[in-house]
Amino acid sequence: MSTGEILVTGGTGFIGSHCCVSLMKQGYRVVVVDNLSNSDAGVIDRIASITGSRPAFYIADVRNADEMDRVLRRHDISAAIHFAGLKAVGESVAVPLRYFDNNVGGTIALCQVLNTHGIKRLIFSSSATVYGAPDRVPVAEDAPLRPASPYGHSKAMVEQILADLSHADPEWRIGILRYFNPAGAHESGLIGESPRGTPNNLVPFLAQVAAGQRDALNIFGNDYPTPDGTGIRDYIHVMDLAEGHCAALEALLQGQPGFTVNLGSGRGHSVLDVVRAFEAACGHAIPCHHAPRRAGDVAEYYADPSRAMTLLGWESRRDLESICRDAWHSQCRQSNGASQR
Ligand code: NAD
Ligand code: UDP
Repeated sequence: MSTGEILVTGGTGFIGSHCCVSLMKQGYRVVVVDNLSNSDAGVIDRIASITGSRPAFYIADVRNADEMDRVLRRHDISAAIHFAGLKAVGESVAVPLRYFDNNVGGTIALCQVLNTHGIKRLIFSSSATVYGAPDRVPVAEDAPLRPASPYGHSKAMVEQILADLSHADPEWRIGILRYFNPAGAHESGLIGESPRGTPNNLVPFLAQVAAGQRDALNIFGNDYPTPDGTGIRDYIHVMDLAEGHCAALEALLQGQPGFTVNLGSGRGHSVLDVVRAFEAACGHAIPCHHAPRRAGDVAEYYADPSRAMTLLGWESRRDLESICRDAWHSQCRQSNGASQR
């Protein structure tokens, strides 16, 4: 590991906060920047409870060059992990400019200020959504990119910008990580996924139904060409994902050239598989209704995660049962007043 500090943008968010925990457990010193547009400053206290030390924390927007410059002057940063961004596919269709401004504009602004400070190691949060509807599964990194929403386009655009940047200046070493379906929580339950408003994603929605905060899960489509008719996805435990970032960081700091890798488990689970696993975790039946397919959904995708193993020596270790158990534990802590916001 490096002696310098690691900048984590979006570090109070769902994935960023878990990544901070993994980094700090490995001995890295972490500097978090977040504008709190989708998270709460209290997450820093909970990271400190888990790790026994506090990351440096700045409320700042990555698009604000002056604020970012001030942060970078105060620290000796050796690499950045860039989680900050907006992530709701449906919202991105309604307000595309907000998504391009934050996700694309934010990354350009961040790279400019990092460049000024001579920091040229970057890990970027991309998404399997860049593949759109894949021709075949499992999906490998050389599959065609066919993003189908402004959110997906914003990720594909940033990937292209980062490829052009490292082509223009080979001192840049950039790791692009394409996440499949992150879910679950830290085993302590102190941090987790606590979406504002109605959750878009399956696991947090199920958790709220299981906790009695919502009436029933709508299962979007039961006529897909899959064994039980419901959609199949590759759910990856957020702590596995966090550890994948540590492996990627280590590779970059040890001089590995840039890379694009999938972070997934390589296993597909249907919506009904997830419901059953969650019922086992919470110990009671979860009310479900069948509903029409959700616009834009594909029947099935899961990762070919072999490149991550070859390049980074990383693979996921936690299964769907762990994801549901930890998501439920975190939900119970939230419901009991250990608010995550
Ligand atoms: P999140 O919303 O929980 O975390 C993002 C954090 O970034 C939030 O704390 C938010 O306040 C902050 N932020 C947003 N815009 C900012 C800005 N301009 N400046 C500073 N901070 C800003 O989301 P997450 O699930 O943790 O996702 C993290 C990253 O991973 C995002 O880039 C997302 O697109 C990507 N990703 C997420 C998923 C998923 O299913 N969660 C899947 C694939 C990729
Ligand atoms: N899903 C569902 N009900 C919900 C949310 C999701 O049936 O309330 C299904 C969705 O159709 C997909 C899977 O669960 O097959 C995962 O959806 P999610 O939104 O979590 O992730 P996506 O893969 O769409 O990014």
